[in-house]
Amino acid sequence: MDDVPHFCVNCGTGLELRTIEGRELEACARCGFVLWRDPKVVTMVVVENEAGEVVMGRRGIEPGYGRWCLPGGYVNDDEHPASSAARECREEIGAEVEIVSLLGVYHIRKRDAPSMVGIAYLGRLRPGAVPAPGEEMLEVAAFSRDRLPEPAFPSHREAMSDWLDLREQSLREQPR
Ligand SMILES: [Zn+2]
Repeated sequence: MDDVPHFCVNCGTGLELRTIEGRELEACARCGFVLWRDPKVVTMVVVENEAGEVVMGRRGIEPGYGRWCLPGGYVNDDEHPASSAARECREEIGAEVEIVSLLGVYHIRKRDAPSMVGIAYLGRLRPGAVPAPGEEMLEVAAFSRDRLPEPAFPSHREAMSDWLDLREQSLREQPR
């Protein structure tokens, strides 16, 4: 990934290359620490309001400044992904959201950083919740299915597309 020497996070010894399970990894000869190249875990939530519209935020930070996205973000090491997703909804769209179901899991490739595992949930605004932009958002708004803006990130576009398929499927199965 890079040529900068790394040091053990436990004992400070310089790491050495070692082959572990067929992969070349940096490890500590003194205490056994291995610098695993793990993916980061992120969540995203397709939040429906009572009208069945999707609540999105317009980003006030890079990457994707000024563009619309789903609420979501990095999962902390001690968090359940669903709790993390609900927390991100509180922080980014200022609303309590019930996490309803898993929408999909996506592999997000990065050129200059470890890849990410994106976990998308279907969420629903809790009764009486009124979305408001969090610190990292310029505004929040709800969009009907035929007026959805293109989300800033490819993984959000994938999740949105899977949500649209799910909704079209349920419309076919429950004709009115
Ligand atoms: Zn060590």
